[in-house]
Amino acid sequence: MFVCEGFATSSADQPLTQTSIERRDVGERDVRIDILYCGVCHSDLHQARDEWHNTIYPCVPGHEIVGRVSEVGAAVTRFKVGDLAGVGCMVGSCQACPNCSDGLEQYCDKGFIGTYNGIEPQTGKVTFGGYSEAIVVDEGFTLRIPENLDLAAVAPLLCAGITTYSPLRHWKVGPGQKVGVVGLGGLGHMAVKLAHAMGAHVVLFTTSPGKVEDGRRLGADEVIISTRPEEMEAHINSFDFILDCVAADHDVNAYLNLLKRDGTMCQVGAPEDPLSVAAFSVIWKRRNFSGSLIGGIAETQEMLDFCAEHGITSDIEMIAIQDIEAAYARMLKSDVKYRFVIDMQSLKDSRAAA
Ligand code: NAP
Ligand code: ZN
Repeated sequence: MFVCEGFATSSADQPLTQTSIERRDVGERDVRIDILYCGVCHSDLHQARDEWHNTIYPCVPGHEIVGRVSEVGAAVTRFKVGDLAGVGCMVGSCQACPNCSDGLEQYCDKGFIGTYNGIEPQTGKVTFGGYSEAIVVDEGFTLRIPENLDLAAVAPLLCAGITTYSPLRHWKVGPGQKVGVVGLGGLGHMAVKLAHAMGAHVVLFTTSPGKVEDGRRLGADEVIISTRPEEMEAHINSFDFILDCVAADHDVNAYLNLLKRDGTMCQVGAPEDPLSVAAFSVIWKRRNFSGSLIGGIAETQEMLDFCAEHGITSDIEMIAIQDIEAAYARMLKSDVKYRFVIDMQSLKDSRAAA
């Protein structure tokens, strides 16, 4: 066991503050990663504030982690000290169920082990995420990071990237298809970039008129202000696929009605309260309403390699870890361009000053 610094919250209504946390020693199959950057996902905020009603406190969020390997266990074969490495939303799974056997560890029948708010099988303790100096992870859940990309801008690919890549691939998005992306936040802006790179005709739906120009720059062929009914009606019965990346309550029927026959709308945004689907939204035109959870480890590596090949990273705003609460406040106002990333040097600096 070793101690390192992190940012934690002790209850749903308390801010995150600097705290010393314990990490397990590097085991045979583990790598220790000294964290350079960690993206700030809206899931971190949902979890810190117990909006999914399952948070174990203290909670150290963060599951978009990029860093350098500083120690490896005796049985580790894929990493050596000094290598770049990444960790996303999972740090373990049963490895035996049909879903794990298919490389879909996120759908593990025993439940995947979350990078935070999970129970670490090695110690029986709660997992702590990437808002910290270091993390120890099984090499099987550690990703290789391409050397040719900006490291801070790569971090959000580990969640926002794979969460949007996986459904776009599963529903075979490509040339000749009209694809909608709802919400230009962390996930949404990655979905726009990825669907564009896959060759689809991309339509962005936003509630923020100030994001229209950015939407086009990021790869949208059309941008619709979703609060304007006439703009929505012009697209009725026309979409092959729509990816809903919205973090708050909203009317999904407005989007389902834009799908053509047998079209699919996939929910990746995870608002606190249930969404209401009108029966006739799916009865008409035999439409599908589905969902998707992050992506498996092999597919995450495939996504990173796809991004390296296409020069795709996240558009980021770098913050010091001490500014995390201000970042959350802006996130709640849909005011992020388009992902906050914590420079972990800020944590090392404050430790040195103390
Ligand atoms: P984010 O950066 O805060 O983006 C959410 C976007 O949704 C906003 O930028 C805004 O876009 C839109 N929006 C916000 N409030 C809205 C409202 N009331 N009505 C309509 N649109 C609204 O969040 P994120 O990090 O991308 O995460 C999005 C959601 O995905 C979260 O719920 C998160 O927990 C979830 N998530 C799911 C998975 C998964 O595996 N399924 C993985 C990661 C995250 P505009 O300004 O363009 O309207
Ligand atoms: Zn996330």
